[in-house]
Amino acid sequence: MARQYPIEKYRNIGIIAHIDAGKTTTTERVLFYTGISHKIGEVHEGQAVMDWMEQERERGITITSAATTCFWVPTWLPKDKGNEYRFNIIDTPGHIDFTVEVQRSLRVLDGAMVVFDGVAGVESQSETVWRQADKFAVPRICFINKLDRMGASFERSLESIWKRLTTNAIAIQLPIGEEENLEGIIDLLAMKAYEFEGDFGQQIVEKEIPAELLEKAKAWREKAVERIVAEDEQLMERYLQEGDVSLEELKAVLRKAVITSKLVPVFCGSALKNKGVQFVLDGVVDYLPSPADLQPIEGIDPKTEKVVTRAHTDKELFSALAFKVATDPYVGTLTYFRVYSGMLSKGSYVLNATTGERERISRILRMHAAEREEVDELFAGDIAATIGLKNTSTGHTLCAESVPVLLEQISFPEPVISIRIEPNTKQDQEKMGFALKRLSDEDPTFRVSSDIETGETIISGMGELHLEIIVDRMKREFGVEAQVGRPQVAYKETIKQEAEAEAKYVRQTGGRGQYGHVKVRVTPKSRGEGFVFKNDIKGGVIPREYIPAVEKGIKEAMAKGVVAGYSMVDMEATLFDGSYHEVDSSEMAFKIAGSMGLQEASKKASPILLEPIMRLEVTVPADFFGEVIGDLSSRRGQIQETEDLLGMKIIRVHVPLAEMFGYATNLRSLTEGRGTFTMEFDRYEEVPQNISQEVIAGKSK
Ligand code: GDP
Repeated sequence: MARQYPIEKYRNIGIIAHIDAGKTTTTERVLFYTGISHKIGEVHEGQAVMDWMEQERERGITITSAATTCFWVPTWLPKDKGNEYRFNIIDTPGHIDFTVEVQRSLRVLDGAMVVFDGVAGVESQSETVWRQADKFAVPRICFINKLDRMGASFERSLESIWKRLTTNAIAIQLPIGEEENLEGIIDLLAMKAYEFEGDFGQQIVEKEIPAELLEKAKAWREKAVERIVAEDEQLMERYLQEGDVSLEELKAVLRKAVITSKLVPVFCGSALKNKGVQFVLDGVVDYLPSPADLQPIEGIDPKTEKVVTRAHTDKELFSALAFKVATDPYVGTLTYFRVYSGMLSKGSYVLNATTGERERISRILRMHAAEREEVDELFAGDIAATIGLKNTSTGHTLCAESVPVLLEQISFPEPVISIRIEPNTKQDQEKMGFALKRLSDEDPTFRVSSDIETGETIISGMGELHLEIIVDRMKREFGVEAQVGRPQVAYKETIKQEAEAEAKYVRQTGGRGQYGHVKVRVTPKSRGEGFVFKNDIKGGVIPREYIPAVEKGIKEAMAKGVVAGYSMVDMEATLFDGSYHEVDSSEMAFKIAGSMGLQEASKKASPILLEPIMRLEVTVPADFFGEVIGDLSSRRGQIQETEDLLGMKIIRVHVPLAEMFGYATNLRSLTEGRGTFTMEFDRYEEVPQNISQEVIAGKSK
C-alpha cells in the first residue's frame, strides 16, 4: 500500500495550556471543524452537529486518547480532498504533576499551539511547559483565547507573553472588539477582517476593517512585518526600497522563522464563541513544520555507542519511539508510538532497542476523533497505536531488527513524595501487584518499592495529586481496595566535600577465606547531575573482573544513605587503589569492601540531607494578601515575585514540600475559599541544620 498523504502534509502537534485556559474547548472546536472538512457537505444541520459533539463529549474519546488524527483544508484553499493536511494531535496532559508525560509528548510532537486565557494572560503552567518546549526546541504558535470574557485584553495578554515567555512573539491578528463586543478578527498580514457566522461559526465572512481600527491595524501590521522581514536579508532590502512585500513572501519567511524558533506568531479569538479557531488551524499548516522540515533524528547505535541519524523518510530504516502506554478496557495494552523513519507493516517483528527484546506488531490502530481505524502499514511521520506489546514502556525505542538504534535515553526526575499503601484483603493484595506494575509501565515517574523493614508497599511520585490519581485509577480500573498512609517527603542525601577512605573485608576461616581491599574517593557534584562511578585502578592492583562488584557495592551503599537512610545523589565515587589475594578474593568480598568504602568516605565528606523545593503560584484577592504572605513565610517560603491582576494578587514563591501538606485546605480557610494555587517541583536543596535534625530524629523513632 502506498502512502496516502505526502509527508509534507503532516503536522504532528500538541495543544498546550494552563488548566482552564480553554484547551478542551479549543480541541473540541478543532475536531469539529476538521470533522466538517473531512465530510464536506454532510454535516450542515445545526442539530446534527450538536448531537455529534454531545456524543463525543459523553464518550470522551477525543479527550482521553493520547493521539488523534484529523484532517484540515486551509481556509485559503478550495475544500477538496487533495488539499487536506493530516494533523496528528498529541495530548499534552494539563496538570503539571505529570511533568514526564508533558516532556514525553513534547518529544514526539513537531510543533505546538499554546492556548492562553485572554483575561489571565500567561499563567504558571504555561510558563513551565514553555521552558520545556524551549529545551526541546519545539516551534510554537500562540492563541489568545477567551477574548469574549469580561476583563479580557489582547494587548495585556500579549505583553505578559513578552514579559514572561519571549520577546519573539508577534501579533499577526487583532480582535475586532473585546469582552461582550468581540465580533471578529483582523488578519494583519493580509489586512483583511472576518466574522464568523452559523451555529458554530463555521461560515467565515470577510468584512471591511472597521474604520476606527484601521490606523491601529496598520501600526500593528508594520510592527509584525518589520520583525518578519528582519529574518531575511533580501526581503528586508526590498521592503526598505519598495515599502512592502507580498503576502506569500511574508508567510514563507515567517514559516522559516517559526520552524527555527526565532519567531512566534500570535493569534486571537474565542473558542467558546466560535471565533478564530479555523485561522489557528491555518496557522498550523502555514507555520508549524512537517516532519520533512526537520533535521534527521539522532540516536545511538547500542553496539558501538556512536551517534547515528535517521532521516524522516520512508526509505530509511524503521525507527519509532513509544511515548505512551495506556490500558484500554476493551483491547488491553495500547502502546502509542511515533514513527520517525521507515515503514512498519502489520505482523512484522521489531526490536525494542531499549530492552533488547523482540516485539511482534500484531495490529496497528490509528485513532480518529470518533473511531479507531485498523491499518496495515505505517510510514515515516505517522503516529499510531499497537495492541499487546508486552515489554515496551514509555520512552522505549522500537526499530528495525537488522540495524538497531536507540533514540533516547532520558533521565526522569526523581519522585519527591511517597505514601504507604496497604491492600484491604488478600485478594486485593494480588490485584494490587498487577495494577502497580501496569501503572508504573505507563509512567516512569511513578515508582513502587517496599519498606526493607516492614515489607509494606510504598508508592512514590511527583506530587500529592499524582499519587491520588494513581490510587483512584487502581480502584476504578483494577478494582483494588486499599488504605493509604500519610504522604512523606522523599528526602535525598549527598556530600559537601571530597573525602577518601580505605576498606578491607578479610575473613580467614579454615579453608578458603575472603579478601577484598579498596580505596575510594567521593567528590560532590552539582544538583541534578546524578551519580558517576570512576575506575582509576592502575597496574591491575585490583583485577578487572572485580571492578563491577566494587561498583555494585558502592551503589548498594548509596541506596541506603549515611545520614538518615535516604538514597544518595549528585556525587562521584572513584575507586583509585586497593589490593587482592590470589586465592581468597571474590566478587562478594569486593562488593562488601566497596560498600564499606563508600560509607566510610561519605561519612567523612560532610553528608547532608536534601529536600524537594516546590514552585508555587498563589492567586488571592488583594484583601487577603498580607495573611497569605505571612503564612507562606512561616512555611519557609521564599517569595520570588508578586503581581497585581484585576484586583487579585499573584504570588510566586518557592516553598519546601515538607511544609506544603494540607496547604489547599489552609489556603481556603485563610481566603474564605477564594484563593487558588498551582504547585510543581523545582529543585532539591540542602535541608537547614535544625530541621535536618528533626528529620533524622523522626526517622529513627
Ligand atoms: P481546559 O482546562 O484548558 O481544558 O479548559 P476548558 O476548555 O475546559 O475551559 C475551561 C472553562 O472556560 C470552561 O468553562 C469553558 O467553557 C470556558 N471557556 C473556554 N474557552 C472559552 C472562551 O473562549 N470564552 C469563554 N468566555 N469561556 C471559555
